Amino acid sequence: MAKAPRQVEDADEKALAVPAAQPPVEVRPPDVGAVKTVAGGLPAVLHAFKHVLGEAGPWRGGKLLWKINQTDGFDCPGCAWPDPSHRSVNEYCENGAKAVAEEGTRERVTPEFFREWSVARLAGQSDLWLGKAGRLTHPMVLREGATHYEPLSWDEAFALVAEELNALGSPDEACFYTSGRTSNEAAFLYQLFVRQFGTNNLPDCSNMCHESSGTGLSETLGIGKGSVTLEDFDHAQAIFVIGQNPGTNHPRMLTALQAAARRGCEIVSVNPLPETGLNRFKHPQEVLHLLGPGTALNKLFLQVRINGDVALLQGLGKALLEREAKAPGTVVDRAFVEGRTAGFDAYAAHLGTVSWDDVVEQSGVPREQIESAADILARSERTIFCWAMGLTQHRNAVGNVQEVVNLTLLRGSIGKAGAGVCPVRGHSNVQGDRTMGIWEHPQPAFLDALEREFGFSPPRHTGLDTVATLKGLHDGRVKVFFALGGNFLSATPDTEFTAEGLRRSRLTVHVSTKLNRAHLVHGRRALILPCLGRTEHDVQATGRQFVTVEDSMGMVHASRGAVTPASEHLLSEPVIVARLAHAVLGARSKVPWLSLVEDYDRVRELISRCIPGFEDFNRRVRESGGFALPNGPREGRFPTPDGKAHFTVHTMPRLKLEPGQLLMMTLRSHDQYNTTVYGLDDRYRGIHQGRRVVFLHPEDVKARGLSAGQKVDLTSHFQGQTRVAREFLVVPYNIPRACAATYFPEANVLVPVDSHAEKSRTPTSKSIVITVAPSTVSAALLPAGTPDVARPG
Ligand code: SF4
Repeated sequence: MAKAPRQVEDADEKALAVPAAQPPVEVRPPDVGAVKTVAGGLPAVLHAFKHVLGEAGPWRGGKLLWKINQTDGFDCPGCAWPDPSHRSVNEYCENGAKAVAEEGTRERVTPEFFREWSVARLAGQSDLWLGKAGRLTHPMVLREGATHYEPLSWDEAFALVAEELNALGSPDEACFYTSGRTSNEAAFLYQLFVRQFGTNNLPDCSNMCHESSGTGLSETLGIGKGSVTLEDFDHAQAIFVIGQNPGTNHPRMLTALQAAARRGCEIVSVNPLPETGLNRFKHPQEVLHLLGPGTALNKLFLQVRINGDVALLQGLGKALLEREAKAPGTVVDRAFVEGRTAGFDAYAAHLGTVSWDDVVEQSGVPREQIESAADILARSERTIFCWAMGLTQHRNAVGNVQEVVNLTLLRGSIGKAGAGVCPVRGHSNVQGDRTMGIWEHPQPAFLDALEREFGFSPPRHTGLDTVATLKGLHDGRVKVFFALGGNFLSATPDTEFTAEGLRRSRLTVHVSTKLNRAHLVHGRRALILPCLGRTEHDVQATGRQFVTVEDSMGMVHASRGAVTPASEHLLSEPVIVARLAHAVLGARSKVPWLSLVEDYDRVRELISRCIPGFEDFNRRVRESGGFALPNGPREGRFPTPDGKAHFTVHTMPRLKLEPGQLLMMTLRSHDQYNTTVYGLDDRYRGIHQGRRVVFLHPEDVKARGLSAGQKVDLTSHFQGQTRVAREFLVVPYNIPRACAATYFPEANVLVPVDSHAEKSRTPTSKSIVITVAPSTVSAALLPAGTPDVARPG
């Protein structure tokens, strides 16, 4: 059984009749120690082995590490960072090792486990405890009014979903969520099933992370993906890393940054918190290097205020234009701008109206530092701009991304080796799922291809994205919620609002490998459908199968499981989708669902006929390392309506805070991947054995009469509504004044469902106005499951 401490040993089930939506308050406050100055090194190696060997054991664990990210192995289920074409025997990072340890665990969540644990008691456990409970082994159902999940057969499970879906008044009363782990094959079948069923309600995790990148890039460059490859990092003269913490969220990116720094590439990082991974790095595989001080990565760190990015990026543009005015033809790439772009004059005119005072005040970065960064940009002929959710989760997130594009175009830094834009994706196949058609807003050409190939009329109206799904569940328009992977409840904003919506539904279904909080906040009936992990053998009628994924840089490659499945009762995701489609659609569908999943080549053959770039898919994906999808901007072609890349103009957002208010961002700890919590430490930031902390500037702590280590409640303020998250420990930290940072998902309860980015509708998890006050409830008095939301009237 799980090794993590139980937080509610003998909770009174009656008191917990409605299972809690949030993890319980930690009984023991976290320890706060020194912030680390170097990432990687021996501690990374030791933590990786501790997790893998401790959870999966030496034999299974060793096999997993041997095969992770190898051409004949499986793709890491962690992030979407690409693999190099020449691989070493250890192509993984500490967090990749933790991800496979989670999947490879020897612990099992069996029907006996569910007999012992009611849903309400499970909800009183921490996220760590739930995750450590082990792999799900059987399909389970929670019947109406029941307190415990019980086993059922796969046929019964599919029949139950079919009964609920076919009883709906409209296909639009169901939503079908996808997490970024889903393979291309499963995703393609899933969207095909959903569209034959009759809806485009296909929200996904991309709605919550890089939707702003997709929107911002599509409008300006004609494609919603980055333009660089991993090889470009070998040629860049400057790399800007903005709103991103690769040391924790994409650790192998540090290898690319280290190689770049060693050959003289200048790295500029932009974040509200100085992140250890961008400071110094010791490559765990360089044995001699482990004893030294590590490689310095940052040439320059710009400590931007939360959501001060537009101001900073405009300041950089302004500084470049001022240099150009002094020495015409030396900074702006005139040939590129005049031949390949549109909108430069309006952009330059707008920057002429922007004042340096505003730039400095709104960005929080001194002018001299902005000038230094502009010098780096001006002397670099080949610059890569990387970013992650520090740019994409604000109201003006699309503007953030497009200001990056403006700088890229100004310097003509795209369409050549060593240059371009690089949104770094989180979950391993989040980009591939979108390519496969997981989108509430599909392109007409894609729907035409489905119509041609499968002989049905796909729905043409826009479906529900994640935010719209939350609202639809809440107001009763959405009655069935199906999730292919993920932890929807914890990943989404406004936790209590989401939970209320899920509780109102008729049926919630989760395809999962492990137990998580989303299984515990459910509809009238609920199903858990356990699936194979990516690390496991997938054997179908024609033999062992492989699946494919697309990394953050548009490379498609194969992933082959390496170990025996955790249970003989597991089905693969493609098989679950195919059997579900067969059960739901019956004679309405001419697609040979069951035969398709006897051999995944048959699915790939269909993909090759429907999606441009996948021609000859089955042959090309068998080549070592896979193949690259077409990418116009990479070659200097911009598939926009006029064939040009576009400069855009954005009003600088202004921070408006009432006295005492702070702007809060959520972030991830080092022992975490998305909603999965691997441990309770965030060792680079010096936090140990706990997660309920709030990072504040020391002067902000003092100004509020607070002290380090004090327990406080956080209240968010949005359109007259307040939401409260209780019992956080104050940690004075190197963060700009008037800013605060807390961990996701604990602070999601503070993120209002209606607070999302313009155009992309990405929740603004990094721009939440809060106040902080001494805690009014002691941990001992706060029963697990206490709702933490208060709204007026
Ligand atoms: S960098 Fe990402 S993909 Fe690579 S091993 Fe680490 S978590 Fe996995």
